[in-house]
Amino acid sequence: MIHVAIDGPAGAGKSTIARKAAAALGFVYVDTGALYRTLGLGMLRRGIEPTDAQAVCALLGEVRVALRYIDGAQHVFLDGEDVSDAIRTPEASMAASNVSAIPAVREHLFSLQQDIAAQNNVIMDGRDIGTVVLPQAEVKIFLTASPEARAQRRFKELEEKGMPAPYDEVLADIVQRDHNDTHRAVAPLRRAEDAVLLDTSDLTLDESYQAVIQIIKEKTNG
Ligand code: C5P
Repeated sequence: MIHVAIDGPAGAGKSTIARKAAAALGFVYVDTGALYRTLGLGMLRRGIEPTDAQAVCALLGEVRVALRYIDGAQHVFLDGEDVSDAIRTPEASMAASNVSAIPAVREHLFSLQQDIAAQNNVIMDGRDIGTVVLPQAEVKIFLTASPEARAQRRFKELEEKGMPAPYDEVLADIVQRDHNDTHRAVAPLRRAEDAVLLDTSDLTLDESYQAVIQIIKEKTNG
């Protein structure tokens, strides 16, 4: 199996690029952020504060998170309901960021991620794929960009999806999530020593994609 780990902060373009690269290479794309979002949404729907570790842990066995592929696209299910769109709100983003700081949550979602990688060639994106989930991955890429460049992209994306939010709020959200993701005690966002660093601040999406494909080809002699 070939494993490609793509980590980086929110809005660096990981999911768009990873999805496209996986389709081009015939790999399974795994968006691990979607799993944390689904679990976070499950807590919100049960009236649980995602920062309340004790309450979140008490419900971990009850909130059912599942991942399925429909026509090659990843869908996430919460208690049997397809929530692939519902997890894309700012509330679900923040809930994901908060529940992901809880060690038991990370352990809970760890095996789900490893099971998929054990059976497939995967491109998996997240925050700790190269460092924790797939430390033996053949290819590791740390994709980043300035907070402003990332906020601008997310702002456009939300607008296009018909869920507009003020730019200042989108930027504040990114800065807050960066802080949460890099400062948490367990599996903080950081570049694996053997990860290739790719800063996409001044690159178009297509240029970033081409750079990622190039790195994967070089590392796998493909
Ligand atoms: O990638 P995405 O923005 O969908 O991730 C949502 C949140 O889930 C992130 O802010 C991060 O806190 C958490 N996450 C994580 N580890 C991963 C993927 C996402 O902690 N592998």
